[in-house]
Amino acid sequence: MKSVMETYKRTDLAPVRGHGSWLLDERGERYLDFVAGIATNSLGHGHPALVEAIKDQAEKLVHCSNLYEVPLQAEVADMLTSSTDFDRVFFCNSGAEAVEAAIKLARKHAQESGGPEKHEILTFTKSFHGRTYGGLTATAQTAYHQGFGPMLPGFAYAPFGDLEAAKEMVGPQTAAVLVEPIQGEAGVIVPDDGFLPGVRELCDRSGALLIADEVQTGIGRTGAWFACNHYGVAPDVLCIAKGLGGGLPIGACLARPSVAAAFVPGDHASTFGGGPVQCAAALAVLDVIEDDGLVARARHVGELIMQELGGRRSVVEVRGRGLLIAVQLRSDDARAVAEAALAAGVLVNDVTSDSIRICPPLVLTDEEARRGVEVVVSCIEEVCT
Ligand SMILES: *Cc1c(COP(=O)(O)O)cnc(C)c1O
Repeated sequence: MKSVMETYKRTDLAPVRGHGSWLLDERGERYLDFVAGIATNSLGHGHPALVEAIKDQAEKLVHCSNLYEVPLQAEVADMLTSSTDFDRVFFCNSGAEAVEAAIKLARKHAQESGGPEKHEILTFTKSFHGRTYGGLTATAQTAYHQGFGPMLPGFAYAPFGDLEAAKEMVGPQTAAVLVEPIQGEAGVIVPDDGFLPGVRELCDRSGALLIADEVQTGIGRTGAWFACNHYGVAPDVLCIAKGLGGGLPIGACLARPSVAAAFVPGDHASTFGGGPVQCAAALAVLDVIEDDGLVARARHVGELIMQELGGRRSVVEVRGRGLLIAVQLRSDDARAVAEAALAAGVLVNDVTSDSIRICPPLVLTDEEARRGVEVVVSCIEEVCT
């Protein structure tokens, strides 16, 4: 891939087909997929309902400008809002864009209610919110900022999980607090149960919006439709993307009615946002997750995987909820473990230098879960002696 810019550290594997939780390379070798396009292929590969929906819509109409009505967009929005506290949706094509929309919406809303000084966005250490300048500035990890300065003004950072520190930093200047309920790219960091409710309270007290970045955790991944549900917290704005399209690029920013009203025609846009094919895919994904009980399935298989991983000598800690799991290693050998697992026919991702992420399709069977864990554990034992 010499003529492609070198922005990724790629693994030496070229999958060309997929079926369920399995990928095949050009030689026909099979791999059990515990990565799922980084929590994206929620229905696995080649799911008939998803394939049918995409084919069918592609034959009818691939693209329609947002200058016109897009009925499928309304259908997805209705499905997303019918079971939540949100009642308006902005559609885009990725997680970073969902975060970008949320930041713009929060600032416009705050300036209308609190004046121009109320513009600060508070985020947390080790967070990940995407690679656009808004998302990048919100990402409180200096490694991601290196060489790209200056970042945007008006952001502040508090230590993740530390409610006392956040208390000091949320004030009248705060337009919004942007948080991942469970941090994904940091290595699946699950905060104490009191953290998110505490942040909600700080926001209420200072008139700041709570924006939940559920780009990775949303759409059933953690064994609840949204990770916020685990904590009984209702955010004002919700960002989703990865799992929503089952592999097609679609992101969304959801907001409560009073907040959504801050956007008026012309304020924000996306040429491809909420296109008919992506929306048809999202509808299929939401339908299948609902009809096949995949949220409960994610919870069940996730618990099974965590159980199977627990108590192994080579595993320091297992973190996560549902099918978003990280295995903490004794040493900085995550890359070597992922390579050994690949050679043994299981795809996992070295989310940090010393931890492995497991985020399989939500359709993973118990049998596949056990088989994959066995391979991963034996690779850890082999590599981390
Ligand atoms: C992946 C991710 C993003 C960025 O999504 P892209 O689609 O890559 O732009 C933002 N926030 C979180 C929490 C993510 O996991």
